[in-house]
Amino acid sequence: MKRALLLALLPLLAGACGRAPPTAPHIVLVVCDALRADHLDLHGYGRETAPRLAAWAQGALVFEQASAPSNWTRPSIHALFTGRHPAPDRVLAADEPLPADEAVLPDLLRRAGYETAAVTANPFISRTYGADRGFREFVDLGWRGEEATGPWKEPLASAAVLDRVEYLLASRARGAPLFLYVHLMDTHEPYDPPAELREDVDPAYAGPVDGSREGYALLRDGDAVLPADARQVVALYDGEVRRLDEGLARLRALVARHLGDRRVVTVVTADHGESLGEEGLWRHGHGLHRGLLNVPLIVDGAGAATRVGQRVGLVDLGPTLLRLAGAEAPGDIDGRDLLAERDEAGVPRLPAGRDLIAYRALPDRPTTIRGHGVAALGELAVLRDGWRAERRADGWRLFEEATGRDRSAEQAVLLEELVEGARAWEQRGRARLAAAGDAAPAGAMDLSPDERALLEQLGYTGR
Ligand SMILES: [Zn+2]
Repeated sequence: MKRALLLALLPLLAGACGRAPPTAPHIVLVVCDALRADHLDLHGYGRETAPRLAAWAQGALVFEQASAPSNWTRPSIHALFTGRHPAPDRVLAADEPLPADEAVLPDLLRRAGYETAAVTANPFISRTYGADRGFREFVDLGWRGEEATGPWKEPLASAAVLDRVEYLLASRARGAPLFLYVHLMDTHEPYDPPAELREDVDPAYAGPVDGSREGYALLRDGDAVLPADARQVVALYDGEVRRLDEGLARLRALVARHLGDRRVVTVVTADHGESLGEEGLWRHGHGLHRGLLNVPLIVDGAGAATRVGQRVGLVDLGPTLLRLAGAEAPGDIDGRDLLAERDEAGVPRLPAGRDLIAYRALPDRPTTIRGHGVAALGELAVLRDGWRAERRADGWRLFEEATGRDRSAEQAVLLEELVEGARAWEQRGRARLAAAGDAAPAGAMDLSPDERALLEQLGYTGR
């Protein structure tokens, strides 16, 4: 009993004195922007796009059904860092700073004695938005694209990001464990891989999709797209997955070279997937289909090398990493420690029947502006096991994930249960809004014309 109490108190004591336990591992968290799980050969894709990652994953925990909490960067990363589902009272529009009052993963790890560092190439994960909170070192490359006059991708591609990671790791003072966050942009539009990685591109293709911004500007949600153009988009996207695979292999080698003084837990995941023509959609930020929400989640260095079929969410990463670090997760979060219970072989035991929320607030519609008392009208889905209940314009529908089939009619009871889960989630959001009273929402940010121009180049128009 005494020993149990002491063990329970250890993380708190460690947190209080700001020193991590000697067993605390280095943690490297890699987010690959807009990377679909189903375009990786390790998840059965027909092209060998990421053989190095597949080899790496053979020695790791691979979650086969990991769900992004939203369909674009800001709410997804916020959910990852807070362990909370996106909420109707947190729109996180492109001109809205992050709330400063929520506990975030980098800050919790810093308080637990970690050195914390980030190298990010996404302008939304930048100081501008307050995403540097908790990081002692924050290398912010996300706005470099605005300076680029040549190919947009190069200043933000993984080679440039990893140069900075290499410098950071090589110059690190040893002692405390490191939490390193790396945000890679290769698979983000525009897909413009180097010539040698365009092996899936049809040499006879002569259409407008050539990797330039202008070519992608022609793809608009809902427009008819020629099959040859669509194939070209996919071939270029896959070329970016190949570039990413090279980057991840380099990162793995850097970690092995520079972080040998402790155990290392490396996580490779994505903030969301990408639409490649499904439901007439392109890029991301709209829609909640499987290609947008099903992301890779590979955890290396934290136990058995095995595959886990139960559905988990990015909201689970925070509590999982905090426990590995010997730190406490906040009590009022939605995420769960994925490694809390394991069988004798070290395989995580995860219960079935759990609901996860995927939500994208739509700031240009009347959603939940404080004081209006309107329900969350954004895009909303509830995910449970192999099912996805999604709110569409004509009502709720139930999709079987494996086949994509609409099973609303045959599975009416299950659909109603999931809709009930969505109502409970909305109620919690309303209660928070009511508790906040008439407190003024965070003011809009003053982005410069150049910053707005870059966001438009990334496909974020009118958000
Ligand atoms: Zn993103």
